[in-house]
Amino acid sequence: MQTFNSSLTDLNLEQEIRNTIRDVPDFPKPGILFKDITPVFYDQHLCSHIVEGFIARMTEKPDALLGIESRGFIFGFAIANKLNIPFVMVRKVGKLPSKTLRAEYDLEYGSSVIEVQQDAIRPDWNVLIHDDLLATGGTAEAAARLVKKSGARVSGFNFVIALDFLNGKEKLIQHSNNITCLVHY
Ligand code: AMP
Repeated sequence: MQTFNSSLTDLNLEQEIRNTIRDVPDFPKPGILFKDITPVFYDQHLCSHIVEGFIARMTEKPDALLGIESRGFIFGFAIANKLNIPFVMVRKVGKLPSKTLRAEYDLEYGSSVIEVQQDAIRPDWNVLIHDDLLATGGTAEAAARLVKKSGARVSGFNFVIALDFLNGKEKLIQHSNNITCLVHY
């Protein structure tokens, strides 16, 4: 059995992730090349290294980690658990019980709404936002507005994958320029 601490260099980690991600053309619609990270979840050794990789890149320990539905929950929760900090869910509208705060964002066609529970984020917190993939940045930017609506500060963003050609970072730097992505395309 491989031990949790056996080390992968940064380069190897990036290469391992690249080798494991599956490209699915024309999903969910024609013209989109979907980066499917599902196969990463089959490899718990790699998952452990991804969690460690994110933590090794942190310059400060956040007070809480906010994960975006649904693939942002997986590593988001694991990182928060390893850091022993609260994990906060951001979900699509209508999924969370109790009072919520809402943020709207633009999609390619139309718009969408995400929510967080009103009492989930404390105003004195530095909150790190996590999702599996940064594309246009619309979703993560809306999540950052939810953090600010709660009175808290965005300490940074992290993503397993960034599609750099979509310039998502441009939308996020108004909230924080602490943006970590393990693999860039
Ligand atoms: P965006 O708001 O444009 O940055 O989109 C980010 C969200 O959409 C993330 O939650 C991703 O999981 C998902 N997403 C967008 N584009 C892709 C893609 N090409 N492959 C996989 N997931 C994607």
